[in-house]
Amino acid sequence: MNGSINLWEDAVKFHGHACPGLAMGVRAGQIAMKRLGVTRDCDEELIAIAETEACSVDGIQVTTGCTFGKGNLFVKDYGKQVFIIGKRSTGEAIKVYFKPLEFSEGQKELRTKISQGVASDEQKRQSKELRKETINRILTGPEAEIAIITEPDIRFPERASIFNSVKCEQCGEMFMEPRGRLQDGKIVCLDCYEGYKRS
Ligand SMILES: [Zn+2]
Ligand SMILES: [Zn+2]
Repeated sequence: MNGSINLWEDAVKFHGHACPGLAMGVRAGQIAMKRLGVTRDCDEELIAIAETEACSVDGIQVTTGCTFGKGNLFVKDYGKQVFIIGKRSTGEAIKVYFKPLEFSEGQKELRTKISQGVASDEQKRQSKELRKETINRILTGPEAEIAIITEPDIRFPERASIFNSVKCEQCGEMFMEPRGRLQDGKIVCLDCYEGYKRS
């Protein structure tokens, strides 16, 4: 439990604020890692696929150690609260889909008032409280109540590759070879390639 508290604090520090989305990313990572019997990724033993571009992606990165920079985090902008964590050595994967959060009529009304900017101070306080409860529910609620967990067959994306560097003949900066373009007979980087900027 202590580990979980530190993990949540680390996630909030990384993300900047505490929100339900972040909580989903953290919990999805925890659920999947426990089932896969793995610890936080160091060197691409794991992969993570997030089917959303929102806050939860940061929770997944902090929890699983699959990161954008290492190239083992894949973000698909499907706008779904779906997270798949896979273990390369065995080919196993766990998919966590979060069920929609249920709110009472009163809570829905409160959310509408807040989003319209017409809430009283008391309602704002209630809303903050509700947000805390929601985060708590996502972080500690029974798995089966908050999510649907399955073991999908997935094709593992290739490991991140290392490419040769070439020098841009326009700006002089080095860049990785597959990103190069030919412009007026010169090898240039994407930043210097005019066709790319216009598209
Ligand atoms: Zn957030
Ligand atoms: Zn250049």
